[in-house]
Amino acid sequence: MWDFSTDPEFQAKLDWMDTFVREEVEPLDLLFPSGGAPYDVSDSAARAILRPLQVQVKEQGLWACHLGPELGGQGYGQLKLALMNEILGRSYWAPTVFGTAAPDTGNAEILAMFGTEEQKAVYLRPLLDGEIVSAYSMTEPHAGADPKEFTCRAYRDGDGWVIDGEKWFTSNARYAEFIIVMAVTDPDARPHERMSMFVVPADTPGIEIKRNVATMAERDDLDEGIHAYIRYDHVRVPADALLGGPGEGFRVAQARLGGGRVHHAMRTVGQCRRAFDMMCERALSRRTQGERLADKQAVQAFIADSWIELQQYRLLVLNTAWTIDTQPHGAARTQIAMCKVAMAKVYHDIVQRALHLHGSLGTTHETPLAGMWMSVPALALADGPTEVHRTTIAKQMLRRYRPAEGLFPSEHIPPRLAAARERYASILEEHGVKEHVR
Ligand SMILES: Cc1cc2nc3c(=O)[nH]c(=O)nc-3n(C[C@H](O)[C@H](O)[C@H](O)COP(=O)(O)OP(=O)(O)OC[C@H]3O[C@@H](n4cnc5c(N)ncnc54)[C@H](O)[C@@H]3O)c2cc1C
Repeated sequence: MWDFSTDPEFQAKLDWMDTFVREEVEPLDLLFPSGGAPYDVSDSAARAILRPLQVQVKEQGLWACHLGPELGGQGYGQLKLALMNEILGRSYWAPTVFGTAAPDTGNAEILAMFGTEEQKAVYLRPLLDGEIVSAYSMTEPHAGADPKEFTCRAYRDGDGWVIDGEKWFTSNARYAEFIIVMAVTDPDARPHERMSMFVVPADTPGIEIKRNVATMAERDDLDEGIHAYIRYDHVRVPADALLGGPGEGFRVAQARLGGGRVHHAMRTVGQCRRAFDMMCERALSRRTQGERLADKQAVQAFIADSWIELQQYRLLVLNTAWTIDTQPHGAARTQIAMCKVAMAKVYHDIVQRALHLHGSLGTTHETPLAGMWMSVPALALADGPTEVHRTTIAKQMLRRYRPAEGLFPSEHIPPRLAAARERYASILEEHGVKEHVR
């Protein structure tokens, strides 16, 4: 059965969210625009505005909707979450206001799945309540896209573990209460069994943030960088800091990355829609050579192509969310990779056109477009570069096929035509069809 409708009760919630985000949340984007602001729990002014907004979200029953009811969420599933995230994606602060900010969402999921009761009490509960933030430390300075190249070690020492090595681009580490760290525990094991995952309090002796690196969308000169280059210098943690068993780091990572990628994709639909709205408003507002930009065919092509691409992408994301909700675990793997690849391209193309139509104004920081444009490269890299996901898609698709049996492809026409002639020989003869010429 196929049904593209949204049930009216849930649509009413989406309508409330839409107004709330535009009117109440977007002012936070303007007042506290730096990349780290939503995660900086020490900023009392921002928190004084944030807290009452979070209370309203909780009163509406819309808090932390990525979680099941046992963890205080609504258990809405990914499809409803996708529709919500389209709205949240408009605003940088909105995920924090609604308790669905990354990487806390993924970290909460793995703590819920693999954490001890004590870890859940100490870390998970305050994380879910929005009182603390967390970080995820996987990428290394010499290796990101291929975890098999990682060298940061963790080894047993007495009744605990010692972590030693470096990590790169650990987002929000400077604000985090705890960091989830992936480290090599058995370098001689098979590649996917070498790594383990640890939950490490951020104030553990030996954790040194060498630098908070800024992306091009953040500013070094204002110390806005939020991606930590970290040295773990013989960092000692107890035995129960291990999440999952020894050697299960990959399995634990997969549990969090699938969700993270699709949530990014959902929010990107919202960002694309915002850029598209700006493009259309500009086309109707600006005149040149006696007519509106909207009357120019080149501009109409921009608008039509952007809408087609956005709708194609949105349907892919919604279908992926539906697959996660309705099919066995892992069934959406290829689709998640497709969302990840399409996300950077569609976002780039729509934002580029919107920015271009805004002329010189588009190149400034006086509209949100420059910030969007500068975040395009990160979308194509965070959670794995485009090429890696393309490879996943191609491998999965190729598994469905076999090589041709003979010298020619199975679609080669001459033998197929001969077989068709043979099959219907008596009818062809009866009707005087001597030869079928191609
Ligand atoms: C904004 C942002 C936030 C991030 N936050 C975190 C975080 O919180 N925690 C964390 O651990 N990491 C984080 N990362 C790091 C991210 O996961 C890595 O950037 C990503 O995995 C790629 O690794 P790399 O940057 O080392 O690139 P590399 O691995 O050096 O790849 C560079 C390029 O090489 C090419 N390439 C790589 N592999 C292949 C392949 N198999 N086939 C063909 N070409 C290939 C691609 O063109 C790729 O873009 C973040 C990154 C960004 C941009």
